[in-house]
Amino acid sequence: MKDAVALLADLGDNARAIAGGHSLIPMMKLRLATPDHLVDLAGLPNLKGIREDGSDIVIGAMVTQHELIHSDLLSAKLPILRETALLIADPQVRYLGTLGGNVANGDPGNDMPAVMLCLGATYQVTGKSGERRIAAREFYQGAYFTALEPGEILTAIRIPVPPPGHGYAYQKLKRKIGDYATAAAAVILTMKGGKVGDCAIGLTNVAETPLFAEEAAKILAGSKLDAATVKKAVAAAEAITSPATDTRGPAQYRTKMAGVMLARALARAAQRARGE
Ligand SMILES: Cc1cc2nc3c(=O)[nH]c(=O)nc-3n(C[C@H](O)[C@H](O)[C@H](O)COP(=O)(O)OP(=O)(O)OC[C@H]3O[C@@H](n4cnc5c(N)ncnc54)[C@H](O)[C@@H]3O)c2cc1C
Repeated sequence: MKDAVALLADLGDNARAIAGGHSLIPMMKLRLATPDHLVDLAGLPNLKGIREDGSDIVIGAMVTQHELIHSDLLSAKLPILRETALLIADPQVRYLGTLGGNVANGDPGNDMPAVMLCLGATYQVTGKSGERRIAAREFYQGAYFTALEPGEILTAIRIPVPPPGHGYAYQKLKRKIGDYATAAAAVILTMKGGKVGDCAIGLTNVAETPLFAEEAAKILAGSKLDAATVKKAVAAAEAITSPATDTRGPAQYRTKMAGVMLARALARAAQRARGE
């Protein structure tokens, strides 16, 4: 790890870390990234593994999306990760693509960042001046701009485990299998006596960064998820989006689809929290 950090620091802008290569190599093919040097993280064993640490689960940055899907620990404690990973690309991409690469990339189209905002995850990073932790909710600054300093490596993703029986859902609209989201929504919630307890919402690919829809979640807390309250929350979530018009549709359509995905994710998460 020390050597990789030193190499990245010494080579500066001319070098990039490479994990699974399934975002970086396509960008290099398009000449959107032109590093002279690649520092391969694949040989660093302490970036692997999924473990419990008190009330957190710690996932090594080099854990692949395929490994997320097949982890019994994650299926039991953080099932939203499996649900989300299954909606990323296709098995070939998931065999190599890593969780660390997905969240460090800074592409608003990546699915995991919104889920990390929703879960209140923290990113552990190491650089020449040592280790630090960055809240996922403070990590994303713009398209491909993150709080990672040059030369820093993301080593692990630390996630507080939501209470047993929590509801969860990741709903993603895509044009075909293997496509990035036109819009997607992540929801984690608890239900108590038919009412929403805690609620967190993340949105994918409807702004330059993943969005944490705090106001929408506040509207839902304490409600019975009745149609009028869900409508208000959906409107609050739609209001913070600013998608681009692109091949996935006009901006207005993508905003509306974020709302539709959120309404579906809320319904599914509530069903799960009720044990249905
Ligand atoms: C056909 C196709 C379809 C896809 N569809 C989707 C999709 O629907 N949803 C989705 O979320 N993703 C999708 N992806 C992207 C895929 O999930 C990537 O694997 C992922 O985004 C990046 O992970 P990686 O390990 O491949 O990272 P890499 O491509 O190796 O790296 C990506 C970036 O992150 C940096 N980086 C990687 N790891 C670290 C680290 N540990 N510390 C610091 N910096 C690091 C690299 O320097 C680089 O800038 C798709 C990819 C392809 C090719």
